[in-house]
Amino acid sequence: MKLLILDRDGVINQDSDAYIKSLDEWVPIPGAIEAIAQLSKAGWTVAVATNQSGIARGYYPLATLEAMHARLRMLVAEQGGEVGHIVYCPHGPDEGCDCRKPKPGLLRAIAEHYQASLEGIWFVGDSQSDLQAALAVDAQPVLVKTGKGERTLEKGVPASTLIYDDLAAIARALI
Ligand SMILES: [Mg+2]
Ligand SMILES: [Zn+2]
Repeated sequence: MKLLILDRDGVINQDSDAYIKSLDEWVPIPGAIEAIAQLSKAGWTVAVATNQSGIARGYYPLATLEAMHARLRMLVAEQGGEVGHIVYCPHGPDEGCDCRKPKPGLLRAIAEHYQASLEGIWFVGDSQSDLQAALAVDAQPVLVKTGKGERTLEKGVPASTLIYDDLAAIARALI
């Protein structure tokens, strides 16, 4: 299967250091919805792996997170595409879970869901923790410059990282 895995905040929607706490704050990055729809229509399964410690911190309830993901699915569906499996880590950084990136638990959960291998699969993120999670499972780390991407790039990324301006550029590269 053609599997592509995306981080959410800073890749699909605008990120904020103050967290994305409500449906109103969940604003797609220009071109991102169209990019997911185009990839989907071209045969790509587009899954999402996102850290959501705001749940553990009590900033927003699970229902709000699910409403954001329902909106994402709806917007992509309106463009004729489909969003694949969405997995999130609801834990805080001190809980020692296996899923909070840079741990690879979320990526492994997606692989298990699809009974797919992660080797060489592109995992697209805007943070160092995304790139590290990809490397931990022999996936291909891909950085976008949206969200925290420029900041991440300035600090240095693993040598094997592929770098694109945004999700739209990735869709153009893959299709
Ligand atoms: Mg991010
Ligand atoms: Zn977790």
